[in-house]
Amino acid sequence: MRWRTILLFGAPGSGKGTQGKILGSIPGFCHLSCGDVFRGMDLRTQVGQAFLKYSSAGKLVPDDVTVDLWRQHMANMVTLGKFKPEIDHLVLDGIPRNAAQAKLLESDLQVEALFHLVCHDRAKLEERLKRRALRDNRLDDASDTVIHDRLQTYERETKPVLEYYGDKKVKEIDAEQFPFEVTRDILTQVKPSKIEKTQRKLAEAGV
Ligand code: ADP
Repeated sequence: MRWRTILLFGAPGSGKGTQGKILGSIPGFCHLSCGDVFRGMDLRTQVGQAFLKYSSAGKLVPDDVTVDLWRQHMANMVTLGKFKPEIDHLVLDGIPRNAAQAKLLESDLQVEALFHLVCHDRAKLEERLKRRALRDNRLDDASDTVIHDRLQTYERETKPVLEYYGDKKVKEIDAEQFPFEVTRDILTQVKPSKIEKTQRKLAEAGV
């Protein structure tokens, strides 16, 4: 069974995490941020060390390491009942982050829509990242050089994911609005019939 999935997509600082948290709080939606999975790792392990090395240089962790870790994490979520594939929509942020990952995940995901959080104002993105660096103690957002490298990695490696999924699945959202407006614009474009079905299943299951 491939999991019904909504992808949150956009440059670092575009608000994927914020939107993911909001959507994940709605019954029937289950949010997972790939960056959070990495940050939750024991940094003394091999994967933890790889994450530190690549993220502090503004680069992507290699695809095989990333997809393995993500699959393990998803399996745990299913076992623990945090994600119920027959009921929930999966809301992913931060993965797939390049076309190779999108291909690898083809067997796991049935992507229903990709929401591209568009922010043309680069200064705004940089400002958000710097604020986040202070708030969340994130090393990868702390320096101008790393921020620059992350934005470049996004342009070069991540943006081709849009072409991979194509115009039918990609929905552009103005990410320069207030968070609640961004959420509203996303929700109005999630197919109502799909949500209704999910809500009905939840009611039947007594959730
Ligand atoms: P942001 O929210 O700013 O886009 P994330 O928290 O998603 O950043 O990711 C932080 C870092 O974790 C990335 O810069 C990268 O090094 C690593 N990372 C997260 N997701 C992936 C992924 N799917 N593939 C490779 N590296 C990843």
